[in-house]
Amino acid sequence: MIRVYEKRFDGRKFDELRPVKMKVDVVPSADGSAVVEIGNTKVIASVFGPKPLHPKHLQNPEKGILRCYYDMMSFSVPERKRPGPTRRSIEISMVMKNALASTLLLEEFPKAVVDVFVEVYEANAGTRCASITAASLALADAGVPMRDLVSAVAVGKVGGMIVLDLTKEEEDHPEGATDIPIAMVGRSGKITALQLDGAITKEELKKALELGKKGCSILYEMQRKALKAKYGVR
Ligand code: UDP
Repeated sequence: MIRVYEKRFDGRKFDELRPVKMKVDVVPSADGSAVVEIGNTKVIASVFGPKPLHPKHLQNPEKGILRCYYDMMSFSVPERKRPGPTRRSIEISMVMKNALASTLLLEEFPKAVVDVFVEVYEANAGTRCASITAASLALADAGVPMRDLVSAVAVGKVGGMIVLDLTKEEEDHPEGATDIPIAMVGRSGKITALQLDGAITKEELKKALELGKKGCSILYEMQRKALKAKYGVR
């Protein structure tokens, strides 16, 4: 393996997350909400519901429905992003839904819907992961019945090195970068989302997954801490 990335651009260790901040109950009009900042990637998630789904023909009498909406604000990136949905935002919304749905006890609210809106107000790579982490926290804050929290982080290969939590600068490394966003259920360690953009060997992927799981575990503890800060220790 050729190592051309000896020191990270921002001075972090290869297995270190960017500085993280989390807080719940930040949107008064929402049933649940959370803000998650990881370095210069910052997102806010708002949850509405469970509430009756309209029109009624969309209702599922067996279980509730989860809808996720990911959006990047125009000013969140250096080059203004045109407002409105894109193919990318539709894909990320779907990834979010798939990452979260299995942790919710949807059968406890038949005919109902839970809407999750995530707004990215500053983007510096890893926005889909921060969105999943914030959405799970906001769902818990809303009191939506769930088995466990989901946290997510990207791992990858930058200049021959396996790294945790890539920045945009790292994603754009001149020697090429491989980006692997992963989402994990806290206690079980079950992976609920895994994407791969770039090339990687089987051995490297194994190492990257271990590192990603470690990152997710740290984020999971921080999610719990953010909930405890509002609801107290139980
Ligand atoms: N990005 C951008 N403009 C866009 C979309 C993305 O500048 O219209 C940047 C932004 O910093 C984002 C990064 O590219 O975080 C990586 O985007 P990607 O699609 O890989 O998703 P992410 O890593 O944010 O989950």
